[in-house]
Amino acid sequence: MLRRMRAAIASMVVAAAVLAPAAAWGARPVVLVQAGHLAPGEPGYLAQTGASGNPFGLESEFNRRVRDLMVKRLRTAGVDARPQAARVTPLGVGGATFISIHHDSAGGAAMVGHAITGGNENYYRGQGFGTGRPTPYPDSAPHRTPATTVSPAVQRTSAGTARRVSVALKRIFTRANGARGRFNGVIPPNSNRRMNHFYGFYRTTAQSRVLVEAGAAPEDNRFLRRTGLLATTLSNAVVADLKARRLL
Ligand SMILES: [Zn+2]
Repeated sequence: MLRRMRAAIASMVVAAAVLAPAAAWGARPVVLVQAGHLAPGEPGYLAQTGASGNPFGLESEFNRRVRDLMVKRLRTAGVDARPQAARVTPLGVGGATFISIHHDSAGGAAMVGHAITGGNENYYRGQGFGTGRPTPYPDSAPHRTPATTVSPAVQRTSAGTARRVSVALKRIFTRANGARGRFNGVIPPNSNRRMNHFYGFYRTTAQSRVLVEAGAAPEDNRFLRRTGLLATTLSNAVVADLKARRLL
């Protein structure tokens, strides 16, 4: 009898786990952390290998270091953090938050961009040359399809994440920490096609999608060298954002 009851309870638990929404069972929120420009690349953007001249050389190497430290810190905080390279994998991957890590080139700025509804991902000439625009050039390399879309809800959530990330980044973007360049905060929608219509926003179904330019090389190099401080600060902001959204 007892054995039969145990078996019945066990099968009920299994059935409930299958039927219940993930959050009700304390499933960890998924955060996709992308190292911008890191191979393997995204078809249509293979020529966009990023900036250079940071303390670690190529932009992709700086991005990789910050990404890997962020994944560690986020996992410690109870987040299901997943590292991403330039090619978003799998296409259409879901999650709570998608955050793409970058630094700007000389004369640029530290800033945060987010997905905005309407418009389209950027098309360039060939594998990423020239000016981005919402429709393909005759010689644009094919993009992976289907692209995901950015709903008004995704824009709202993304704007909230971008605000929290920007406030946190601003706090450490100081001369004492080696920053010398400009801090632009959250860029207004449609002020920068490269950021607001970043292809990565159209390769995921994450509820929130943001892109961080941590600073500019070489003027902010002393700051960019502090990958530990950057990763801790960005991870804490992502965690605070998840908590504000009641996902953690
Ligand atoms: Zn970049």
